[in-house]
Amino acid sequence: MQKQLIDDFGRRVDYVRISVTDRCDFRCVYCMAEEMTFLPRDSIMSIEEIQLVALAFVELGVSRIRLTGGEPLVRRGLVDNLHKIGQLDGLQELLITTNGSQLVRHAKALKAAGVKRLNVSLDSLDEAKFKAMTRIGKLPQVLEGLDAAIKEGFERIKINAVVMRGSNDDEVLDLVEFVRDKGIDIAFIEEMPLGTIESHDRALTFCSSDDVREIIEQRYALTHVPQQTAGPSRYYTMPGHSSRIGFISPHSHNFCGDCNRVRVTVEGRLLLCLGNEHSVNLMPLLRAHPGQVEPIKEAIVNAMSLKPEKHHFDLHEKPQILRFMNATGG
Ligand code: SAM
Ligand code: SF4
Repeated sequence: MQKQLIDDFGRRVDYVRISVTDRCDFRCVYCMAEEMTFLPRDSIMSIEEIQLVALAFVELGVSRIRLTGGEPLVRRGLVDNLHKIGQLDGLQELLITTNGSQLVRHAKALKAAGVKRLNVSLDSLDEAKFKAMTRIGKLPQVLEGLDAAIKEGFERIKINAVVMRGSNDDEVLDLVEFVRDKGIDIAFIEEMPLGTIESHDRALTFCSSDDVREIIEQRYALTHVPQQTAGPSRYYTMPGHSSRIGFISPHSHNFCGDCNRVRVTVEGRLLLCLGNEHSVNLMPLLRAHPGQVEPIKEAIVNAMSLKPEKHHFDLHEKPQILRFMNATGG
């Protein structure tokens, strides 16, 4: 069987994001509704099935895996078994995106399992605003978690901040100062229209990466860092400082041309594009052939021809993608 995943537009897929749970201990306004119904246990991948999917991708030449969710660190059994993914032959990077709430408890184990880089979501440094954006999150818990992770000495730690006009757009410079002090990176994210959200009008709260960049450039000159890996982020540095500032701009800068990634939802659905519904359900195969990697590999190879050329996001239309971000795996 082939060793590389290449789609019909010649793009090589070497990066997969796997959602390991749809559950979360926060309810961020841009990601979830206030009242969420979570998936029944038997419809989500077991830890063994997640490992098998990871193995299949690595055997097909994928070198980076990001585990996400939902909140990956609330998935029972994940951290204890993480080394089985971290040690896969051929995997260069195991990455995790977390809201940070459980990092005090898990930072050490993540490092030991082979996680090299962490993304920690943090939209505000103001306790009240943080609470408003996450609905139930506690800022001190996340800050302690972040410090615990910094102490472990991961190769890189990056803050993810979704910027919403009227909520946290006045904190852009505070967040920049914060990452400079900590010696970590930050990526500012434009909100994507995933799931039906009633707490705010996305067209009104939208804050473009260009606007965020303008705010930062009032204080620091930004130098573009040439792209090291394909993907939606553009990175910049500030003079005399190692922290990098990134912008993830699904609206204002279309990034589909060099898309190198696919996603697997916690229900085992292989999504070929974040902004389209093209997908293949791997779950029937996982259940029909427990522990067998070849059928999964074959399905993944065949799915490549379904990867669409680009996404279609429009702030002024009703969301076409009815999946919430937590089910998709951000
Ligand atoms: N719970 C973890 C966390 O918050 O980091 C991992 C999952 S979360 C879905 C992954 C990332 O997606 C987070 O950085 C979050 O801010 C981002 N996100 C969630 N909903 C989004 C949306 N509608 N638009 C843009 N980013 C979003
Ligand atoms: Fe949970 Fe992450 Fe979604 Fe916030 S963004 S609700 S922390 S999954």
